[in-house]
This record gives sequence, structure tokens and C-alpha cells, in this order.
Amino acid sequence: MAAQGKKVLGFTLTSPEFEPPAQLKKYAASAYKYSFPYLPAGGDFQLRQRIADFYSRSWGKKFNQDNVFVGAGGKEVIFVLLSTLLEQGKQGQEVIIVSPYWATYPKVVDILGGKKVFIRTSDKNNFALDVDKIEKAITKKTKTVIINTPGNPSGQIIPEDKIRKLAFLAKKKDVIILFDEVYEAYDYEGLFVSALKHFNKNVFCVFSASKSFSLCGWRVGWGIGDKELVKKMINIQSEITTSPNAISQLALKELFSKPKQIQEYLVSINKKAKMRRNLAVRLFKKNKVDFVYIQGGIAIFVKIPDSFKNAFSFAEKLLEEQKVSVAPGEFFGWKNYFRMNLASSPKNIREGIKRIANYYK
Ligand code: PLP
Repeated sequence: MAAQGKKVLGFTLTSPEFEPPAQLKKYAASAYKYSFPYLPAGGDFQLRQRIADFYSRSWGKKFNQDNVFVGAGGKEVIFVLLSTLLEQGKQGQEVIIVSPYWATYPKVVDILGGKKVFIRTSDKNNFALDVDKIEKAITKKTKTVIINTPGNPSGQIIPEDKIRKLAFLAKKKDVIILFDEVYEAYDYEGLFVSALKHFNKNVFCVFSASKSFSLCGWRVGWGIGDKELVKKMINIQSEITTSPNAISQLALKELFSKPKQIQEYLVSINKKAKMRRNLAVRLFKKNKVDFVYIQGGIAIFVKIPDSFKNAFSFAEKLLEEQKVSVAPGEFFGWKNYFRMNLASSPKNIREGIKRIANYYK
């Protein structure tokens, strides 16, 4: 068998493998000195204020701690937001999801008893978002619209004019639009603009320490939105986790006290991630493998060969024969694509693409 003696190369999860900010080591190492009480639901007050200051400075709008919700990862922030927006036991509450989508969105809607309304984009124009289509899809039953930029798995960044229109649409239709911006740090063409720049009370943005600081296991994410909405979310969180893990929050609080260092760190990892993006793009092109050009994020969406009827069978065979694991596109609404995580080492990317290319010859 071709795979014999080969080590499995994993590209399934989108977990960045960069060194986290060095200062964190110091803060986390000193944690044993504290006796940790519960922190307040919604997050440590000073951490929330520092996050508010950081994003106020970045996007020119004034936020304060009441606008910030800290959760156990972006995942908890999204789950709690949707729990707040979808009324328990009520039928037919719609959530608009743009496809391709991150696999968790439809699952959360199912768990909460909502109705998924998918807006399919086209790979012919790199999954460009049509804001008019979103507007037409919004009905009286729409509870929220989920937008993801930089996109996982699409790798696309929604340009500022569309972000502005979406923020305006949210206000006009009085619907909360959730902007999942957890990949804010990965912007290879200088295109990313957060919806916070066009903030109004119907805009809610989510971010994550997993993606920005390679701290997936620390489980911290944060959301910024309207104060009243954040208050409702805090009431729900206080019955789930009370507050995310205190050690992570207090270390991040220290990190956010030095915004300049954060900016420098984010610039440095964007540079590293861009090198990996460029490497993957070059190698896929050289091997004549079709993919969607990636502007941001850490996932590349790659077309499977025509000889396979779906991505599940492709991914299965790839693992079996070449010992490479990727995520089949079915998870993201596209059965003729697979997703590959690019925040891996250049050595792994080189070897992984070499093995993948064997199927396209
Ligand atoms: N949003 C998107 C698009 C993601 O890809 C992920 C993680 O893969 C998350 C949110 C949540 O990440 P976390 O819960 O680790 O912050």
C-alpha cells in the first residue's frame, strides 16, 4: 500500500500553529499565585473594557465594556447569541446562512430549533456575496443573518462597500447580523474591514483568541454588540459556564493592556500565514489543481477531481492511500470541494500538497 510507512499529515481542523504572544507565558506561569474566584458572567470587567478600547481604536467607534461579551471561545459567543435571538419553543424562526459556511452554524440552528435558510454563492466568482439576495431573503421570521469574513472555508474577505451595506441593511430591517470575524488577523491583500467600522445596534461581531493568538485550548472569544443584547446574553451565560476560565481571562487582560504589542504580534503572524498561503497557491497551481484563490483566513477550499462523486469518498481515499486528512466539503455545503488548513508548517504543506496532487494526474 502506498501509505505504508507514511506519517499522517493532518489538515482537517483550522487550528493555527503559530507561537502565541510571548508575554502570555509569563502571565499564565504566575497564575498559581492567585486563588481564582468565579469571574463575573460576561467576563472580567477590566478585560471587557480593554477589549472595548482596543476595537474602538482600531475601527473608530466608541465601545465600552457594556458592549463586550467574553465567552469560552467564539463558539460559546455564537451559541449564546443565537440562544438569545431564537425564542424557545417558537416554530419557523429563520436564520440566514451563506454557503459555503462554517459547519457549526447549521448545527447550532438545529439545536436551538430554528429554521435554516441557505444563500448559495457561486464558485465561478469566488463565492462573492450578493447583498441584494440577503435583503430579499429577510422576512418577518428572520432572527439573524450569519456573515463570515475572512471566510472559513471560502477564504474570501467581504469588501468594505458590502460590509457597509450589510450594516445598513441590519438597521433598516431591524435584524441582528452576526459578523463572524474570528479570522480578522489573516488578511493577505489588505482588504479586511470589520463591521465594527459601520457599527449600529443591529451589528454584532465575534472574535477569538484561538485564531488571533493561536490559543485554541484556552477557550476565550469575545463579541461586541448592542448593550441591551449583551445584557441578555450575560443572563444566559451565567446559567451555562458562569464565565470563561479565569486564568485565560486574566492573562488576556494583561495582554490587552499593551495594544501596540498585540498589533505587532498580529502583523507578524499575518506575515507568516501569508507565506504559507503563497506557498500553497503556488504548489496547487503548479500541479494544475483547481482551488478558490484565498484572500484571508487559514483555510483553502480545493476542488476534488471529477473522477470522485463526492468529497467524502475523496477524503477517505486520500487518508487511506496517502495518509493525508482534509475536511470534506459536505460539512460546508459543497460536495465537490475539500478544505485544507494552511496554518500548518511549510514542510507539512509542501508534503501534503505533493501527496494530494497524486490524485489529479
Ligand atoms: N467561527 C469560525 C468561522 C471558526 O472557524 C471557528 C473555529 O474553527 C470559530 C468561529 C470558533 O472558534 P473558537 O470557539 O475556538 O473561538
